[in-house]
Amino acid sequence: MKHRCWFQCIDPECGETYDIFEVIYRCRKCDELLEVRHDESRLAKTGPESWKALFDDRIRSNKWPYGSGVWCRKEMVLPQLSDESTVSMYEGGSNLFWAERFGREIGLEDLWVKQCGNSHTGSFKDLGMTVLVSAVKEMRSRGQDIPAVACASTGDTSAALAAYCAAADIPSVVLLPRNKVSLAQLVQPISNGAIVLSLDTDFDGCMSTVQELTKRENIYLANSMNSLRIEGQKTVGMEIVQQFDWQVPDTIVIPGGNLGNVSALGKGFLLMEHLGMIDRRPRIVVAQAEHANPLYLAYQRGFERYEAVNAKPTLASAIQIGNPVSYKKAVRTLKEFDGIVEQASEQELADASARADRTGMFNCPHTGVALAVLLKLIDRGEIKKDERVVVISTAHGLKFADQKARYHQREIEGVTGTFANAPIELPNDVDQVRDTLRRVIDESHETAARR
Ligand SMILES: *Cc1c(COP(=O)(O)O)cnc(C)c1O
Ligand SMILES: [Zn+2]
Repeated sequence: MKHRCWFQCIDPECGETYDIFEVIYRCRKCDELLEVRHDESRLAKTGPESWKALFDDRIRSNKWPYGSGVWCRKEMVLPQLSDESTVSMYEGGSNLFWAERFGREIGLEDLWVKQCGNSHTGSFKDLGMTVLVSAVKEMRSRGQDIPAVACASTGDTSAALAAYCAAADIPSVVLLPRNKVSLAQLVQPISNGAIVLSLDTDFDGCMSTVQELTKRENIYLANSMNSLRIEGQKTVGMEIVQQFDWQVPDTIVIPGGNLGNVSALGKGFLLMEHLGMIDRRPRIVVAQAEHANPLYLAYQRGFERYEAVNAKPTLASAIQIGNPVSYKKAVRTLKEFDGIVEQASEQELADASARADRTGMFNCPHTGVALAVLLKLIDRGEIKKDERVVVISTAHGLKFADQKARYHQREIEGVTGTFANAPIELPNDVDQVRDTLRRVIDESHETAARR
């Protein structure tokens, strides 16, 4: 008997199952979300130590595609996929950065930042997209009629979809909210040859259009409602544990928008627990932008009632989502992982990002949201000084060079550049350069001494 997985309705009362290579996103019986289930009794025939040894042997190796942080775990991700259909760009394996200096400054000795933005298209979306596009390639090779793959995006999903589809020679379509993604994020799918539709709406508007479109046409939906992506993204927690030599951290802070990624994080941990690879769970903290905080508001109400919000513009544009598709899955994860939800204002996220940059990072604003929430929880004593904490950094800061520059120039409306470091403009004159340097270096000594 071989390893296998299938789609299953998340409603335990229904539990309808579907083939993993079927084109389906919601349960046909009850319209609930689907999730990928694995034959865990088959997986359990291999002992936990053997799985660890296998993953340690494969990860970052040159054994294509098993060197990938996703495909080194193929049996637990998408076992039925053929090697020929695998579309991999060596995703995963990103640095788990010991934030020694930033941690010391905020009173944490054991703070780590998982650099998911150090990836082919610059965000964690690569982890999920490699699985989804590989599945599409497999379905097309089996003769299924899938002329194109489409997604709505706040920027990073479309970049990942466009790149993986381009590599696999599969047409891709991306629906972006006009003027709401960064220039870097817009130019990525354009460069990779995607059909880019820039729509006069926000992300939630693009999302409902793409759902309608993929319902009626046989264009394949690539949003995280499609739970194939969750299978790839769930490897991030597995990889973090592997990078700690199979030790589980105490707390993980993750920014949340559509809430697929937090669900994925939890799913990876539960699978490892079921297979005896770990014997405890981390606590999971979801960080939201105050301008797009439906999960935070529901958390305040003890998850008794969910209401979508009208997401307001935020620097953290990839999480400007008012009606998250994976809300139910995220609540389930938070309940299983002793979860906390906290929010950050524009000022807080911009300052936290810039302050951490001063210690050698180069954060995207969503990582800024997570760092700002971390600071709040330390202040409130909800995260203790001796905890091992991991912050999930979701994208590369270079995608947001524009807004980071505006922060340092103090040009962002409503935000004070507390940690701004604007360039000093001078004539090319040695005396003036020397005098300025003396003054600036003295000043920075004084500030350091005052601390
Ligand atoms: C997609 C994305 C998120 C949010 O992930 P969800 O699964 O939608 O919660 C956060 N940060 C960045 C940079 C992203 O691209
Ligand atoms: Zn169902």
